[in-house]
Amino acid sequence: MIKACKFGGTSMADGTNFLRVKEIVEGDEARRYIVVSAPGKRYSGDSKVTDLLLSAHEELLKTGRLGASFGRVRERFLHIVLEIGLKIDFGRILDETAQEIEAERSEAFTASRGEYLAGRIMAELLGVPFLDAREVIRFCGDRFDGETTYTILREALKSKKRAVVAGYYGADETGRVRTFSRGGSDVTGAIVARAAGAGLYENWTDVSGFLACDPHIVPSPARIEALSYKELRELSYMGANVMHSESIFPVREAGIPIRICNTFRPEDGGTYILPKPQESEEGRPVTGIAGKKNFTVIFLEKSLMNAEIGFAYRALEVLMRHGISFEHMPSGIDTMSFVIDSEQLKGGALEQIEAEIGAAVRPDRITSFDNIALLAVVGHGIHGNVGTSARLFRAIARAGVNVRMIDQGSSELNIIVGVDNEDYERTVRAVYEEFFK
Ligand code: ADP
Ligand code: ASP
Ligand code: MG
Repeated sequence: MIKACKFGGTSMADGTNFLRVKEIVEGDEARRYIVVSAPGKRYSGDSKVTDLLLSAHEELLKTGRLGASFGRVRERFLHIVLEIGLKIDFGRILDETAQEIEAERSEAFTASRGEYLAGRIMAELLGVPFLDAREVIRFCGDRFDGETTYTILREALKSKKRAVVAGYYGADETGRVRTFSRGGSDVTGAIVARAAGAGLYENWTDVSGFLACDPHIVPSPARIEALSYKELRELSYMGANVMHSESIFPVREAGIPIRICNTFRPEDGGTYILPKPQESEEGRPVTGIAGKKNFTVIFLEKSLMNAEIGFAYRALEVLMRHGISFEHMPSGIDTMSFVIDSEQLKGGALEQIEAEIGAAVRPDRITSFDNIALLAVVGHGIHGNVGTSARLFRAIARAGVNVRMIDQGSSELNIIVGVDNEDYERTVRAVYEEFFK
């Protein structure tokens, strides 16, 4: 069986961790294709190389030259090479990279150099070929082009016993570098697993698996033994950022299981992400909890809305014209609301949209409220178990939190609750207590 392994930012943060990764890779012959992220934070308060590169790009645009931020990137990489004792002239590679960044002047190209440089070092350390994602991961405009990528990548991997692929980026048909959204090396890992015909995609990170909720809110939450692709998609989309929410698509088509593993505790069990749901050993209806803050709800009320053909169409048309995507649309007989990431409504957009929706559908009332956090309770067991929502709302009420919105997703996999931003952490703790203690 072939394993594709992706190592995240913390796993690449310094020379010691590079050596740790080498040990893990060489500890199993099946670990043939390695995808790397750019070095992440070494300690709290440190900077991720990708963030430094994004600042470097800003400096370049302002002054026409690379400045202090690229200097810090340089130091990080030189230090890694020194720590692991590689005999390569990495200073020269960094100089060439700096020249290319200044010549290209593209944000995506600059941002991608963290993975490129980390990949070059890792390939050298493992003594295996380096595959530049610019050559093997193809975009069509700014969208991933699976068909072309799999043809090229399959061919490139076929002849190699082992290889390192740089995560996070690729190139479009003109050769310009494009990146996935932040955290996108997870997506590259899934693409490589698929192209390699892997039997397992190992995602190596700094936690011992997918946890039942954000460890920043509940200390040491329970580890989820196994979850389904669908549960992963829901939880990661709703804010459990241990894996990029789009990394599921390439592996899902091929039915490749994912295992989340801890680079710093490789002996821990981790979490398996499998095509089909598993019966929870404890018989829990809820698999995990995730959430995000800062949403705005636009609320509409109109008598006999239910009988007015095209009401939702006309309201949604306004959002479409403004290029706004909405997250949820809870509705009642005479009410409808749109839950939208507040970031999209800045700079007067909200007022404009409210006015246009008002003119388009003539509601009895249109109002909006912001600072809303969404909390998703996810699990295949939710809808088959009588009383799950009663337990959920009892727990929230006990915590003294006012529920601002409810959406029982038609996916039958989640219940989404809107609360005030300031109540979010308290709500997560209460819900965790109810279902996992
Ligand atoms: P990497 O750099 O390896 O890609 P990330 O920082 O992207 O790692 O993701 C791992 C982090 O996700 C963990 O350190 C943890 O703080 C955070 N996290 C948030 N929610 C969860 C969750 N439900 N389970 C596990 N980790 C979570
Ligand atoms: N380095 C990129 C980021 O910080 C991609 C990744 O780490 O997955 O977002
Ligand atoms: Mg990540």
